[in-house]
Amino acid sequence: MKLVSDYFGCMVFNDEVMQKRLSPEVYATLKRTMEHGRSLNLSVANAVASAMKDWAVEMGATHYTHWFQPMTGITAEKHDSFISPDHGGKVIMEFSGKELVRGETDASSFPSGGLRATFEARGYTAWDATSYAFIKDGVLCIPTAFCSYGGEALDKKTPLLRSMEAINRQALRVLKLFGNEEVTSAKTTVGPEQEYFLVDKETFRRRKDLMYTGRTLFGAKPPKGQEVEGHYYGVIKPRVQAFMKDLDEELWKLGVLAKTEHNEAAPSQHELAPIFATTNIAADHNQLTMEIMQKIAKKHDFICLLHEKPFAGVNGSGKHNNWSISTSTGVNLLEPGETPYENAQFLLFLCAVIKAVDDYQDLLRISVASAGNDHRLGAHEAPPAVVSIFLGDELTEILQSIEKDEAYGAKEKELLRVGVHTMPKFPKDTTDRNRTSPFAFTGNKFEFRMLGSSASISDANTVINTAVAEVLRQFADELEVATDFESALHDLIKKTFTAHKRIIFNGNGYDDKWIAEAEKRGLSNLRSTPDALAHYLDEKNIALFTAHKVYTEKEMQSRLEITLKNYADLIAIEARTMVDMAKKDILPAVSEYTQTLCNTISAKRAVNEKLSCAYEEESLEKISALVQKAYAEVKKLERELARAEKITDVSALAMHFKNKVLATMEKLRKAVDETETLVCADYWPFPTYGELLFEVRE
Ligand code: ADP
Ligand code: MG
Repeated sequence: MKLVSDYFGCMVFNDEVMQKRLSPEVYATLKRTMEHGRSLNLSVANAVASAMKDWAVEMGATHYTHWFQPMTGITAEKHDSFISPDHGGKVIMEFSGKELVRGETDASSFPSGGLRATFEARGYTAWDATSYAFIKDGVLCIPTAFCSYGGEALDKKTPLLRSMEAINRQALRVLKLFGNEEVTSAKTTVGPEQEYFLVDKETFRRRKDLMYTGRTLFGAKPPKGQEVEGHYYGVIKPRVQAFMKDLDEELWKLGVLAKTEHNEAAPSQHELAPIFATTNIAADHNQLTMEIMQKIAKKHDFICLLHEKPFAGVNGSGKHNNWSISTSTGVNLLEPGETPYENAQFLLFLCAVIKAVDDYQDLLRISVASAGNDHRLGAHEAPPAVVSIFLGDELTEILQSIEKDEAYGAKEKELLRVGVHTMPKFPKDTTDRNRTSPFAFTGNKFEFRMLGSSASISDANTVINTAVAEVLRQFADELEVATDFESALHDLIKKTFTAHKRIIFNGNGYDDKWIAEAEKRGLSNLRSTPDALAHYLDEKNIALFTAHKVYTEKEMQSRLEITLKNYADLIAIEARTMVDMAKKDILPAVSEYTQTLCNTISAKRAVNEKLSCAYEEESLEKISALVQKAYAEVKKLERELARAEKITDVSALAMHFKNKVLATMEKLRKAVDETETLVCADYWPFPTYGELLFEVRE
C-alpha cells in the first residue's frame, strides 16, 4: 500500500527537493527571496532553473509553463517545451534563469479593461517565488504574476501579493509597539472550504443549460426537496467516495493539504476543506483544487458543478474563507492568549478587523459580486447581502464591559481595563458557532462566508488584507505618539468598539427582521452585482487601494469594467441558451404533447360523444395558456437582448441585464416550469431535477 507520507508533494519542487538539488549558497539566497520578497540575481536564477528542469525532466515533464491567473478568474497556461536544438539534429533539454523568472506572453486575448492599448499587446509573467513550482500533466507549472509592460496588474495574484505586503508593513508597526522585536514578518493565512455538486455525466450532457452556463435555467421542483436534511454529513455513496479518494490523492501529490471531504446540505452537494496556508499559496491551491476536481470528476463519469446556484430552490455553493494573520514567530494574532499582555494585543487586532469590516462593507460585498453569486446573496433562500460580524456572546460582553467601564462577568470585581497587566483570561469557547453570519469569528480566525464557489479567493482576500492594513495604519499612527501606551490602547479599543459595534450581530442572519434592523443601523445591503459595483470607485475606496499601493486608480477602473462586462456577458449567454432551449426543444415538445391530447379527445369522441375528457381538456387549456405566456416571454427576451447590443456604457449595460433581461428570464422560467408539471414525462426534452439530484448512479 502506498503511504500518503511517501507521495505527498511528490509533484512539487518544494523545500525538501530544493535543499537536495541546490547548492547551500543558492538555496539560502532563494529562501531569502521567498521570505522577504527580494529579487533573484541572474546567476542564482540560472542555478535554480537548471535544478528545476533536471528534476522536472526526471519526473517525466517535457514542457514548462508560466501558470497565471488572469482576470477571467480561472488559470491560464501556455506550454513551451524544454527542447533546444543540439548538434546533428539532436535536442537537449534546456531551461534558463531568464525563462524561469520572467515570461513574455501575448496578452491581447485576456481581459484588461482598457489597460493595455491594442498596440501594446504583450504582457509579461513574473515568478512568484513564494509559491512552489509543480508538475501537472507532464508540464512544469511555475506560479507567476501577470502584468502589462507598464507594470499594471492584469491578474488576481499581483494585487493579492501587494495587499499581503501592505498588511505586513502595518502589522509590524503595531507589533513593535507591543515589544515584539523578534518578529520579522506577519502573514495572513487562509483555509478556503470549497463546496460543489456532482451530477452524472450522461444526465449533464442532456442539459444544454448546464453545458453552456453551469446552472439549470429551467426545472420544476422535484417531489422531494431538501426538506429532509438527510444528506448533510450523510453516508457517502461508493461512487462519490471513489471520486473523493482519487481527488485527495491527486491533490496530495500536488502538495495541496486536502483535509476533510463530506456531504453538504443539498442532495448531491459536497465539500472539501484544506488545511490553511499562507494566503497566496492558499489561492493558488484553491485554483488547482477547482481544476483537479473537474478533471477527476470526469474520470468517474461525473461532472463537477462549481456554479454558485446550479439548482433553484436548492442550497447554493459557496466558499468559506477562513482568514487569520500570524507572525514569523508562529503567533496567531487572532488567537486569545494566555497572558494579559497577549490578550491586549489580541483585542487590538480583533478590533482592527471589526473596524475594517465596518468601514469597507461595500468593498467586501463587491469582492464577492458575480452573476452566479447574486443567486445566493440577497435572494429569498440565501444569506442576505448585508455584511455583519458574529463575535459570540463572550467576546461581545468583554468589549461591552470595556465600552461601558463596567466589570466583566459575575466574578470580576474590578473594572475591565485593557493593558499589559490587567486583562482577565478569556474563555476559549469556540463551540458557539453561528452558521448564518457572513463574517464569523470562530475562536482563532474569521470565516468570511459570502464568497461564491467558483470565484478565485484572491479578490476577497485582497480586500480583507488591505482594509485591515489601513486600520492598523491608523492604530499605529495613534499609538506611536502616545505618551502612556496602556491608557492609549485602552481608549483606542473602547473608541473603536463604540464606533463600529453596529456591524456586530450575533443573531440569526437569515431572519427578515435582521434586514430591517441592519437598515436601521445604517449597514449597506447591496443586493446585486451592478448595485454593489456602483460603489467600487467611491472616493474612500480609491483612497484605500492607492494609499496602500494595491491598485492604481486606473487598475481599479479596468477591474470595474471587466467585472461589469463579464456580468453582462454571462447573463447574455444564459438568456440565449433559454431562448434556444425554449424554441428548439421545449415549445415543440409541448406542442407535440398537446397534439396527443387533441388526438385522444377526438378519438374518444369518435367512440362515444359522452365520454369524459376532463383530464385531456383541462390539461390542454392550462398548457396552451402557459405555452402562449412562455412564447411571449421568449419574444420579449429576444427584444431585450437586441436592445442590449445598442448599449455602449458598461454600467448601463449591466443594469439592463439585471433589470430587463434577468427579470424576463425569471418570467419565462416560471411559465415553463409550471408547464413541466403538466406534461407527460416522456415528452419532456430534458432530464428533470429529480433525475439530476436524486438519481445519481450508485
Ligand atoms: P470548521 O469551521 O468546519 O468547524 P475548522 O475550524 O477546523 O473547521 O477549520 C475550518 C478551516 O479553517 C480549515 O480549512 C482550517 O484549516 C482553517 N483554519 C484553521 N486555523 C486557521 C488560521 N489560523 N488561519 C486560516 N485558516 C485557518
Ligand atoms: Mg466552516
